[in-house]
Amino acid sequence: MARDKLIFGPVKSRRLGRSLGLELVPKKVCSMDCVYCEVGRTTLLTLERKPYYPWEKIEEAIITASKIQDKFDVFTFTGSGEPTLNSFFEDAVFLAKKLIKKPIALLTNSSLLWMKSVRSAVCEFDIVLPSLDAGTEEAFLKVNQPCKGLKLEAIVEGLKALSKEKKGKVWVEVLLVKGLNDDLENLSAIKKVLNEVSPDKVQLNTVVRPGALSNILPLSYEELKKIAEFFGDKAEVVVDSTSIDRFKRLVEKGISRKKLEEELIAYVKRRPATFEELLSALDAEEKVLSLVIDSLLKENKLQKKLHEDKIYYIVY
Ligand code: SF4
Repeated sequence: MARDKLIFGPVKSRRLGRSLGLELVPKKVCSMDCVYCEVGRTTLLTLERKPYYPWEKIEEAIITASKIQDKFDVFTFTGSGEPTLNSFFEDAVFLAKKLIKKPIALLTNSSLLWMKSVRSAVCEFDIVLPSLDAGTEEAFLKVNQPCKGLKLEAIVEGLKALSKEKKGKVWVEVLLVKGLNDDLENLSAIKKVLNEVSPDKVQLNTVVRPGALSNILPLSYEELKKIAEFFGDKAEVVVDSTSIDRFKRLVEKGISRKKLEEELIAYVKRRPATFEELLSALDAEEKVLSLVIDSLLKENKLQKKLHEDKIYYIVY
């Protein structure tokens, strides 16, 4: 897996295939602080658009991606926060459209879709995957913990405008957390918005990896199936029952991200280990382990060493 500055992957994505990611904001700049966020807690909760990465770095990353187009199926704007917050977002989209011949996709929390210039750029994507976890302000505050000044109404208006102006596909993701946004009032309100937005797909998800907060629980696969039926023909469940059951077991064992970090450090202090060894020793999911290793490397709590063509993780 390559990690070339702002480019990461390709990673195998259930929804998109082999996806090469482009990160436009550093960890963790976001307009929300979702309780389930796999990247961890938001450290800069903001609605301010800024050059969180300079144009030269972004341009270099897109040019790099354009040279390895045989290695991925889709080029995805995503990363460790909300990509539209970077004020070079629009320029990045237009450059990617020019240089990348594969489909381009966007993961967004929908918070800036109300802005005309952002929305015009978003309309250029082949696939837009906006989130909508709430139909009531109460559920919005509980699950997404938005930045002050960000209202659900603005998100809904932005989504409606996008659905009228879009050129590509829009697949709305609804992520449900047990006891927080799975009540009938919220589900009915989400359904009403979805009817107005009329996306190409509605993708139902739940929490299957340790998130920003440790005490959150998933819905069962059967519950998600019933909600998909309630939402209508375009809704599908995009998570499998094995992942849900695995996460439930982890929650029961009290395995949080912090605990996994501690176990990993303790393990490599005893002996250097490869990614595969850690995966089986810690009984962790691949993506979660990658995220944890990435953040420990960035914080300099873990180091890498190449030995006989293999990468080992060690602690000095
Ligand atoms: S919007 Fe996305 S990046 Fe931001 S906190 Fe929520 S899940 Fe994390």
